[in-house]
Amino acid sequence: MAKMVIIGGSFGGLTAAFELKRLLGNKADVTLLCDVDKFVFVPSLPWLSMGWRTPEEITLPLEKMMTPKGIKFINEEATHVDADKSTVNTKTRAIPYDYLVIASGPALGFSSVPGFGPEGGHTECIFTLEQAMRANKAWNRFLEKPGPVVVGAVQGVSCFGPAYEYVFEVDTELRRRKLRHKTPITFVTSEPYIGHFGIGGLKTSRRIMEDEFASREIRLITNQSVEEFTPDEVRLKDGTKLAFNLAMFAPPMAGVKAVFHIGNPKGFIPVDSNYRHIKYKNIFSVGVAIAIAPPEQTPVPTGVPKTGYMTEHMAKYAAESIASEVLGKSLPQTEPVGALCIMDMGHTAALMKAYPVLPPRKTAELKEGKRFRWAKLAFEKYYLWKISRGLTNLP
Ligand SMILES: Cc1cc2nc3c(=O)[nH]c(=O)nc-3n(C[C@H](O)[C@H](O)[C@H](O)COP(=O)(O)OP(=O)(O)OC[C@H]3O[C@@H](n4cnc5c(N)ncnc54)[C@H](O)[C@@H]3O)c2cc1C
Repeated sequence: MAKMVIIGGSFGGLTAAFELKRLLGNKADVTLLCDVDKFVFVPSLPWLSMGWRTPEEITLPLEKMMTPKGIKFINEEATHVDADKSTVNTKTRAIPYDYLVIASGPALGFSSVPGFGPEGGHTECIFTLEQAMRANKAWNRFLEKPGPVVVGAVQGVSCFGPAYEYVFEVDTELRRRKLRHKTPITFVTSEPYIGHFGIGGLKTSRRIMEDEFASREIRLITNQSVEEFTPDEVRLKDGTKLAFNLAMFAPPMAGVKAVFHIGNPKGFIPVDSNYRHIKYKNIFSVGVAIAIAPPEQTPVPTGVPKTGYMTEHMAKYAAESIASEVLGKSLPQTEPVGALCIMDMGHTAALMKAYPVLPPRKTAELKEGKRFRWAKLAFEKYYLWKISRGLTNLP
C-alpha cells in the first residue's frame, strides 16, 4: 500500500486526499496533516468580518470528514519536510511517505511593512478565521465611532480579490446604515491600475472597476507602495498620509516554513505540468503553495493569485498523476488551469472567468450583476455540502 501524506486541510489538501482515496481505494494509505482541526470556507471570511456569517456557518470539523473515507487525520503542524529522506516531521513524530502533497497555502508577510497586520500592527486582515473574527470586532467598534476607512493591498500582494470585496462590502453596509457621508473611503493598491488583479487585467476590468469605484465615490490610489502603518495613519512611499479609523490591507504571501527550503526564493514550490516538484519526484504541490511566474513585471511588485477553483483543479491533476503512477499507467495530459470566481461587491457581484488564467487567453469574461451574488451565496452552501461528504468528483 503506497503511503501518501498531505499537508493542509483546505481546498487543495482535501481535494487531493479525497481524490487519492477515490482513485486508489485500499491501494493508498492516506494521511492528512493539518495544523488546524477545521476546514474553513475561506471565500466567506470577508462576510464573517462584516457580521454576515458566523464561524459555525463556514467551518467543518476535519476529523469527522476524513474518518468515514478511511483517511487518517493528524491535527499537528508540519515543522519540516526532509525531502531526501521522504519524511515529514512534526513536533511529536516523523511521518514517512511514498508520496507527499504539499497544500499548505501561504505564510502571510506582515513583517514587510512596519506597523502592518493585526498582531502587533495597526491594520485588520481577513485572510484567516481568527483575523476575520478580529476584524469583525474592529468593524463593530468602528460603527460606534465612524470615520475614514483605508483598504488596500501592499507591495508584493498576489491575492487582491479580498481587498476589493471588503471595500465594496464596507461601502454597501455603510450606505445601508446611512453612515457613508461620515466615512470617506480610500483604496490603495500596488496594482499598476485598478482591475489588474495580478493577472494583467481581465478584458474591460479596468474600465468596469474605475466606474465602480467612481460611482461609489471611493478614492483610488494605484501603483503605490506603503512605507509604514501608524496607529491612525497609512503612510505611502510618495509621502501621502491617509488618516483612518479602520484599515484593512491584504498582505504579500510566501511559502510556509516547513517547505520553504524546497521552494523558490519566496518558498513557493516549483512544479511541472503534473504539479510534481521539479527536483523531488515523489513530492507534488497544489494551490497557493506553488510558484507561478507573473505575466508581466509591474512597477510596484505584484504576484499572481491562486484561486480556489484553480487549486481544486491542480489537486485533481496531482491526485490523478500519483494514482496513475501507482497503478503503472502513463501520466495524464494536463491543461493549464483556468480561473472562475465571483467577486462579492456588497449588493451586487462580478463573475470573472479566465482561461487560461494568464494572457494570452482563449476565453476571458467579467460581468457584473445581482444574479452573480445569488450564485455566490448558493455556491457557498453547495461547496460546504459537497466537501463535507468528500464528493470531490462533483463539479
Ligand atoms: C479572504 C479570501 C477570500 C477568497 N475568496 C475567494 C473566492 O471567492 N473564490 C476563489 O476561487 N478563491 C478565493 N480565495 C482564494 C482561495 O481561498 C484559495 O485559493 C484557497 O484557499 C487555496 O487553498 P489551499 O489549499 O492552496 O491553501 P489554504 O486555503 O491557504 O490552506 C492551507 C492549509 O494548510 C494548513 N497548513 C499551513 N501550514 C501548515 C503546516 N506547516 N502544517 C500543517 N498544516 C498547515 C492551513 O491551516 C490550511 O488548512 C480567497 C482567499 C482569501 C484569503
